[in-house]
Amino acid sequence: MNDDLLHFIGGEEMPPSSGAYLDNYAPGNGALIGRLAAGNVADVEHAVEAAKTAFSAWRDHRPIVRGRVLVEIARKIREQIERIAAIEAEDSGKPQWQALTEVEGAAQYFEFYGGLVNLPQGDVINLGSSFHSFTRREPFGVVAAILPWNAPINQAARAIAPAIAIGNVVVVKPSEETPRSVVELARIATEECGLAPGVLNIVLGTGKGVGEPLVSHPAVRKIMFTGSVRAGREIGRIAAERIIPLTLELGGKSPNIIFEDADLDTAAAVAARAFTINAGQVCVAGSRLLVQDSIYDVVLERLVHRVEALKVGLASDSAFGALTTRAQFERVEAIHGIAEAEGARRVTGGPGNPNEGSGLFVRPTIYADVKESMRIAREEIFGPVLAVIRFGDEEDALRIANDSDYGLGAAVWTRDISRALRMAARLEAGQVYINDYMAGGVETPFGGYKNSGYGREKGIEALLQYTQLKCVTIKL
Ligand code: NAD
Repeated sequence: MNDDLLHFIGGEEMPPSSGAYLDNYAPGNGALIGRLAAGNVADVEHAVEAAKTAFSAWRDHRPIVRGRVLVEIARKIREQIERIAAIEAEDSGKPQWQALTEVEGAAQYFEFYGGLVNLPQGDVINLGSSFHSFTRREPFGVVAAILPWNAPINQAARAIAPAIAIGNVVVVKPSEETPRSVVELARIATEECGLAPGVLNIVLGTGKGVGEPLVSHPAVRKIMFTGSVRAGREIGRIAAERIIPLTLELGGKSPNIIFEDADLDTAAAVAARAFTINAGQVCVAGSRLLVQDSIYDVVLERLVHRVEALKVGLASDSAFGALTTRAQFERVEAIHGIAEAEGARRVTGGPGNPNEGSGLFVRPTIYADVKESMRIAREEIFGPVLAVIRFGDEEDALRIANDSDYGLGAAVWTRDISRALRMAARLEAGQVYINDYMAGGVETPFGGYKNSGYGREKGIEALLQYTQLKCVTIKL
């Protein structure tokens, strides 16, 4: 068992002021990894104070100095990538290869934003010869980031890097299910890369114990939240009351649309990956597959073939690992009874652990002939379960695709460029992929339409969202 995992506040490990701890289990084998601090209001207060103290010096640096620290964080992450990925893999039940990809992504966020520290520049506004007017982009001060458990260090880096690049200071609450890699990131950044103590603080604990007091703290001036619609809504109410900006990155039920003129082999292969990667615990997972009538049977057959070849487990040739939380495991297992009662046709997979042992593994499962009204077509499952729906023509595909409370991703498979662009313009989603799925990188802005949230992460857009605009006008 590991040592107790403590808060990281003002550059130091700190035990919980309540003396209380939570247990942390490995989803891959059910073993107890260790205990983590169960934070409370006093710990939040302490972390926000540490951040406030660090703010003005960090903000007032020449931007290139901050950029150098970020680039160094990227370098140190890469230097220790195997070790960090091993922590991540154990904590979240992923195969090591998957954790490596996500930790490399975390390094890229620091590298990317480290190079953009001078980008948010002001404008000079022409008011005639009697005035000089210009704008400045300034940091908010203390930013709170509340994070989920599906890609812990990657999602942490996605919030932290742009926020600190621009001169903010951050208090992070990682998920109580997967806190270890995030604490390690803060430790590396502060102890090995020259990030001033207090610029990045981690408070461990639950949503109620830490998350709520953090977003309610009067010194927190901007919130970034990734997770469920339920928690997003609760945080949104608090942010509205406090009149502070909020970025919400919530779930999805993203349509992956295959037209009859597509490269069907590639489309089927990518569709298999789009709903199973990370055991389907991906906000933008391609969990609704829309297939044109004329190719429905052939695509389904190729897809089933691909999915049945996927290995589930933690070995290096596994396609995906465990579900990360027991609650998630139970939610995914329960969906089969619901799908069957609704009359969906299961063509592969189903309930039950495909592996020996007590890990939270589930089978990749495909339901065909799904109707748009069924719960498996409408609700985010966050597991490797696909709903396949038939469509007739382009209008029909658009109607079904947009008939969702969510609007995170959408993909279109076609060789007809005009159709691809027509669809891209009319799909109600923050990301549209043409002839691929989850294409993009740290450079491409990412976020939702409708219940999938608002505000954008990644890209230059995220950097701007961690700034507030000031206009200065001088009478000459
Ligand atoms: P959650 O939203 O409850 O938890 C996410 C984070 O928010 C955690 O750090 C949690 O401690 C914190 N939190 C929870 N309630 C809070 C509150 N009231 N105030 C402040 N912080 C709070 O997610 P979950 O219950 O673990 O997962 C449920 C569902 O959420 C999943 O099935 C999936 O559909 C969705 N989800 C989406 C994403 C995503 O990437 N968009 C990630 C994880 C989960």
